[in-house]
Amino acid sequence: VIRVIQLMAHCNPVSVSTSFYGNRTISTTAFSGNVFRLTNDCNTAVSETVNWRHNTYFQKVGNTWTHDTMRAPATTLWAMEVTRSYFSGVHSYNGWDNGNSGWRSNEDALFCGGDGCIPSDPNNASYYRGYMWVGWGNSDALGDDWNSLDIIGHEFTHGISDTMAHLVYANESGALNESFSDIFGNTIQAHQLGSVANLWKMGEDRNSGGTSLYIRNMEDPNEKNDPDTYKGLKWHTTPDDNYGVHTNSGVQNFMYYLLANGGAGTNDKSWNYKVEGIGIIPARRIAFKALVDYMDANATHQTARSAWLSAALDLYGVNSAEYRQVANAWFAVGVCSNGGEEFI
Ligand SMILES: [Zn+2]
Repeated sequence: VIRVIQLMAHCNPVSVSTSFYGNRTISTTAFSGNVFRLTNDCNTAVSETVNWRHNTYFQKVGNTWTHDTMRAPATTLWAMEVTRSYFSGVHSYNGWDNGNSGWRSNEDALFCGGDGCIPSDPNNASYYRGYMWVGWGNSDALGDDWNSLDIIGHEFTHGISDTMAHLVYANESGALNESFSDIFGNTIQAHQLGSVANLWKMGEDRNSGGTSLYIRNMEDPNEKNDPDTYKGLKWHTTPDDNYGVHTNSGVQNFMYYLLANGGAGTNDKSWNYKVEGIGIIPARRIAFKALVDYMDANATHQTARSAWLSAALDLYGVNSAEYRQVANAWFAVGVCSNGGEEFI
């Protein structure tokens, strides 16, 4: 009983004005008297934010967070908790490693720029084994910070891909790794916010003076010069970006968009396709099972197709619409069985 009381005492809800989502409730940690930190210890998998430049917690007297330098990490903390809660509640997957490990966001981080990887670039976000780095963008404004919900969800998903599938971060397996992060980043956004405008863009809430700074578009990868067809027109073949992991992700991204939403057209291989959308909830179930149960370290788009079909088979059966549409969606992006056309 004493332990329960202590936990409750450390888990202090408060409303904050977030950078992108209006007022949202976060929970903070009271660690000494009336001093609070922007960390969430309500669950076994703790979420923390720290100042990357000083390696210190964001903390102050009183549980209010109104200054922009506190609203930024408070926004990240909210998105971290939405993300952790999504995977726990929807997929019964706890913490980034499914072992209830906590995670920490290093805020106001600088990333490699120039020769010799000098920390100088504030425009990125990254993840490695329970640690996240969030840049605060070029301006002092909150709007260009790299902590929109889809971005935070994207980063957390790297932990799942690394833990469960060990997807090697280069070539096709790297592109698939990136794609699963985009898939769940945007799926978490839909889960939390509903069918908002521009849902399928990555990072669309980031903006400069109101102009969106989104970096990819799952609905139309070509718009950002990413391929929508396997080895199609925009397919990336040069060594930069680990052979285009942030480019060739467009193929599985578009497959997922079509699976959830449906669509018809002609791909870069001149294959005419038609996919009847199964909805985002069945699509995310299949995606998660494919990732954790069937993807392997050196996956290709061909083996990824098999993984998604195996997951759909397990969940819905061979005669299901879901199974057929997974095959149709992969066909739409230029991946089918035995290199021949298949439309089941
Ligand atoms: Zn990524």
